[in-house]
Amino acid sequence: MLEFFKKKQSGPIKTESEKRIKDFQEIYNDYTTQESIDQSSRCSQCGIPYCQIHCPLNNNIPDWLKYIAEDRLEEAYEISSATNAFPEVCGRVCPQDRLCEGNCVIEKAGFGSITIGSLEKHITETAWNNGWIKPITSDKNQNQKVAIIGSGPAGLAAATYLIEYGYEVEVFEKNDRIGGLMIYGIPNFKLDKLVVIRRSDWLKESGVIFHTNCEVGKDLSFEDLEKKFDAILISTGVYKARSLNLNTETVSNSIPALEYLIESNKVGLGDKPSRNSHLSAKNKKVIVIGGGDTAMDCVRTAVRQEASEVICLYRRNKENMPGSAREVTNAEQEGVKFKWLSVPSKIVQQKGIASSLVYKVAELGEVDESGRRSPVDTGIEETLKSDLIIEALGFQPENINEKFNTNLNLTGWGTIKVDFNKFQTSNPKVFAAGDIVRGASLVVWAIHDGREVAKTIKQFLENKKVKKAS
Ligand SMILES: Cc1cc2nc3c(=O)[nH]c(=O)nc-3n(C[C@H](O)[C@H](O)[C@H](O)COP(=O)(O)OP(=O)(O)OC[C@H]3O[C@@H](n4cnc5c(N)ncnc54)[C@H](O)[C@@H]3O)c2cc1C
Repeated sequence: MLEFFKKKQSGPIKTESEKRIKDFQEIYNDYTTQESIDQSSRCSQCGIPYCQIHCPLNNNIPDWLKYIAEDRLEEAYEISSATNAFPEVCGRVCPQDRLCEGNCVIEKAGFGSITIGSLEKHITETAWNNGWIKPITSDKNQNQKVAIIGSGPAGLAAATYLIEYGYEVEVFEKNDRIGGLMIYGIPNFKLDKLVVIRRSDWLKESGVIFHTNCEVGKDLSFEDLEKKFDAILISTGVYKARSLNLNTETVSNSIPALEYLIESNKVGLGDKPSRNSHLSAKNKKVIVIGGGDTAMDCVRTAVRQEASEVICLYRRNKENMPGSAREVTNAEQEGVKFKWLSVPSKIVQQKGIASSLVYKVAELGEVDESGRRSPVDTGIEETLKSDLIIEALGFQPENINEKFNTNLNLTGWGTIKVDFNKFQTSNPKVFAAGDIVRGASLVVWAIHDGREVAKTIKQFLENKKVKKAS
């Protein structure tokens, strides 16, 4: 260890931008064994592991880095999977620059952080390749049933632990595929869909029962679930798209980001393209509005669909973008143009088809409630031609009580109100986790919530058994 003095930080090979924009394959390769040893041995094993503190899962990173450096990958996997249900997913999609790697002591000392995410992916891929990841078997049969609504990372992580505790677990998913935003939101070039399918297959083999194409509140009532199951977990995510205040609903080629990404992911998975030609960027001048990770996924998808031009419009400057800096760099390398400090003001349209977008040029003013400097109008207006406008402005929760005919306590934002130590709702039998309690967040937080809620559900069901017996 402590090799950071001698060995330089080096990520795994990244496919050249000219090559990678020709397909939707992941852009980062895996490390070789020697590379993984070299990179993990740079860790200083510092006394206070800031990487671990800043990981939502509190992953024991220094310990598994030491095991990699000693070429003891099976033990490294054991440690890494002890706190994280899906380390291969986090290794790929976590914004490490804002979490573990951004807080690495070596990074702070100017040597470049340990490449924690790539090493986490390396450990887990090695574990899969060597057959170390076996279906879960539980020696207990609790004879109690848990229903999980939604198969995103929160629902799947909870299912992983609950099946291990010996409960019968059934997952209800409105889509035709399992995985939530890991399958239909995040593009394949960041997270290969086979990685998600491999995990859902593993959960099926472990005994989790999945009901796809089953929307609770439509195909099945929440009340029915309450009757049949001992506990219910709501992990339905947030899907109501925030839109521009520019009457875009009357414009057919101005579309919400997720609609665009779902179509692209479905086509990538082998489905037929839909009849809506506005869902493809091919040969079009595309404008994506927004500065978060969803916006970066849209611009990079549009490039791969052979758009003639892709411009990202964001109302603040580059330094104040909410998304991962790594993804902005990737987008820039792939030919995306950015217009910072640009606030959309009008869509020019004929018969419901937009031909251009007018925007106001802004400058940075005072710091607002988000802690970032807010855009202030300079009075200058510019126009950009566009055949396709994609709105990536964030997500809000749908009205869950209306959907489920329930009376759960909600927060002012419309998310489900829970005690964050327990993830229990105002109905003691009902639990909630992931984006539906946090608002749009991260995969790693959803996995965290799934892990923690499984513990509370276990406690709740054990108490229920004791009460019944007494
Ligand atoms: C485009 C995009 C890119 C992203 N990229 C990243 C990234 O790179 N890194 C990162 O960490 N995070 C990223 N995120 C955020 C991350 O995907 C989410 O925070 C995470 O998926 C939330 O997990 P979840 O389980 O709470 O919800 P979801 O993943 O949204 O899953 C919820 C599931 O519930 C299902 N469902 C909803 N209602 C019902 C119902 N009534 N009945 C049955 N099923 C229902 C949905 O179909 C869905 O499958 C991204 C998000 C988006 C939109």
